[in-house]
Amino acid sequence: MAVHAHPDDESSKGAATTAKYVAEGVDVLVVTCTGGERGSVLNPKMDRPDVWANIADIRRAEMDAARAILGVEQAWLGFVDSGLPEGDPLPPLPEGCFARQDVDEAAGPLVRLMREFRPHVVTTYDEEGGYPHPDHIMTHKISVAAFDAAGVPERYPDLGEPWQPLKLYYDIVFSKGKILVLHEAILAAGFESPYEEWIKRGEGRTDKGPRITTRVDCAEYFPVRDDALRAHATQIDPDGFWFQVPMEVQQRAWPTEDFQLVRSLVDSAMPESDLFAGIA
Ligand SMILES: [Zn+2]
Repeated sequence: MAVHAHPDDESSKGAATTAKYVAEGVDVLVVTCTGGERGSVLNPKMDRPDVWANIADIRRAEMDAARAILGVEQAWLGFVDSGLPEGDPLPPLPEGCFARQDVDEAAGPLVRLMREFRPHVVTTYDEEGGYPHPDHIMTHKISVAAFDAAGVPERYPDLGEPWQPLKLYYDIVFSKGKILVLHEAILAAGFESPYEEWIKRGEGRTDKGPRITTRVDCAEYFPVRDDALRAHATQIDPDGFWFQVPMEVQQRAWPTEDFQLVRSLVDSAMPESDLFAGIA
């Protein structure tokens, strides 16, 4: 079970890992907490009145297309996107949005899904949300709460038979090591690096590299990840940042997606190369 905040996050965080496990016969359920209603149109070619008029329907159709490309099942939790607040001071979050929900209450629907789908492994974001969008932080909170409650009969007694997932991971999408290695590899291959600015901005930020426990080799599935990303046409500019790094350079320089194991009810040797390590 991969828990994500918005439609498109499943295609930018851990997507190649998802595609790899699907190819190996694993059933994967992507849970999308919000409908992405407050997202902007980030692809200039899709920034049109007819798109804006139907944005909710369009984002659902995009999610359907990405789901088919990744080969996953997908469920909406039905919360309303909180938007990314901007300004100084930051404006209050909109009434009724996902990030303003009570954590225990909002974890309920996810507990129900865990008890229905019965995942062995759950992935979500770290306590900073991977990046500090209020919906990503809330996704982290309800994922941890649901993981800890789903197996306890006294918790949410009306939401299904208890089921305890065995491992909980955080997606570590970016680490200093990864950025630097990709940056060097791109320059060495004679291309312009989209990471130049990123490296400057990231100086002084805490490096998540030391938190990585698990590196899943999935370079073969990077093209599937990119196809799923492009299916979110309003969110992803096909001429933008994500697609500037030549595929072959990415596959050679950093062939893994990386995770931090934060809860485990089984034994596995560290570092891991498989999210299911230790599970019979
Ligand atoms: Zn998101």
